[in-house]
Amino acid sequence: MNVLVIGSGGREHALCWSLAKSPLCDKLYCAPGNPGIGTLAECVPLTPSKQDELVAFAKEKGIGFVMIGPEVPLIDGLADRFQAAGIKALGPSAKGAILEGSKGFVKDLCRDFDIPTAAYQRFTDASAAKAFAGTLGLPVVIKADGVAAGKGVIIAETREAADTAIDEILGGAFGAAGSELVVEEYLDGEEASFFALTDGEHVLPLIGAQDHKRAFDGDKGLNTGGMGAYSPAPVLTTDVVEKTIERILKPTVRAMKQRGRSYVGVLFAGLMVKNGEPKLIEFNCRFGDPETQVILPRLKSDLLTVLLAACDGTLDRIGLDWHDDVALTVVMATKGYPGDYPKGSEIRGLDAAAKLPGITVFHAGTALKDGKLVASGGRVLNITATGKTVREARERAYAAVDLIDWPEGFCRRDIAWRALAREG
Ligand code: ATP
Repeated sequence: MNVLVIGSGGREHALCWSLAKSPLCDKLYCAPGNPGIGTLAECVPLTPSKQDELVAFAKEKGIGFVMIGPEVPLIDGLADRFQAAGIKALGPSAKGAILEGSKGFVKDLCRDFDIPTAAYQRFTDASAAKAFAGTLGLPVVIKADGVAAGKGVIIAETREAADTAIDEILGGAFGAAGSELVVEEYLDGEEASFFALTDGEHVLPLIGAQDHKRAFDGDKGLNTGGMGAYSPAPVLTTDVVEKTIERILKPTVRAMKQRGRSYVGVLFAGLMVKNGEPKLIEFNCRFGDPETQVILPRLKSDLLTVLLAACDGTLDRIGLDWHDDVALTVVMATKGYPGDYPKGSEIRGLDAAAKLPGITVFHAGTALKDGKLVASGGRVLNITATGKTVREARERAYAAVDLIDWPEGFCRRDIAWRALAREG
């Protein structure tokens, strides 16, 4: 079967890396891909917003399965477009992707179906929002309803900060994503992500991970797309996972079906766990980045078989095998990220790094220029290591980082500090 992956980041490189190993995969394409993906798949210069061209390309190449990596094309209905053309594609339809596209929708669903989450209300009026925020303790959380590239969530430590956030969001700071907002209670606890696949009926649990959102060591600095991740997440005990499946994932899939929004694809639950009780912070309608870079190296089963079963409604027939090893990824970013950063600096030493035991290097913002590998984005490389313990995986990952000659880059040096502290 010919397979097409949509996207160009570390997540898509990890997806291609897994799919390329499948005995079911004949020819692998990626649109638009990146130089790392180019070693595994044929990269096609089509961006995810070019829906007509992507569908035409898939028809021309006899694509049997499309995996859509990022959320924006899903929210924009790309899965629907492929399906209308008779081509199997995973993720959710635009109607299903509302689970990521509208925070208010998710909160109402939680209320109506008794799914544990923070207390909240939705607003389009600033004074009503401020009044409700005033009834909650501090900090208080203010969220633009739509997707705002991770920037539309403000944890306000003071009443003034909450009022300012409300005015900014409703005043258009996030465009249409902020025409409505959610004010919610701040949840204490430890954050983790849990992933599942669903065919609209059955829920197939995958595994959990934890990521590091802040730019610098000690969880300091601005929020980023993610500076590193590891799996398993020790806070996700068997009991917490069971509660997540029974109280959050299964009721959501049932609720979406009942609402005429049958959800097929990856269901990524952002959780806050306190005293062994998981509460939902958010849903994402796709795999995480960088979480995918630590989940897929732990998967023993054939990824393509599993993704096809999600499209075919047969996930109940799938049993998954996982490696016991820990996987950990360190993101290397261009200095300046998540603010402004220069492009075009040369990166050397990747081959030596990739030869170390247990190491896989997934590319994100890289490009080839005059035969040289250069940085072309904020998050540039994902150095992924597996090991018997968190300590081993982390030592391996940083040994590989140290072989990469890229003075214009930086990374956090404390990935998995929580898990490491637990390991003792
Ligand atoms: P991203 O997609 O980048 O993860 P997002 O814009 O979809 O972010 P959320 O995931 O809902 O927004 O929130 C971003 C972060 O804010 C969360 O990862 C969490 O750390 C924090 N957060 C959100 N809601 C709450 C809450 N109710 N209590 C405590 N922290 C919260």
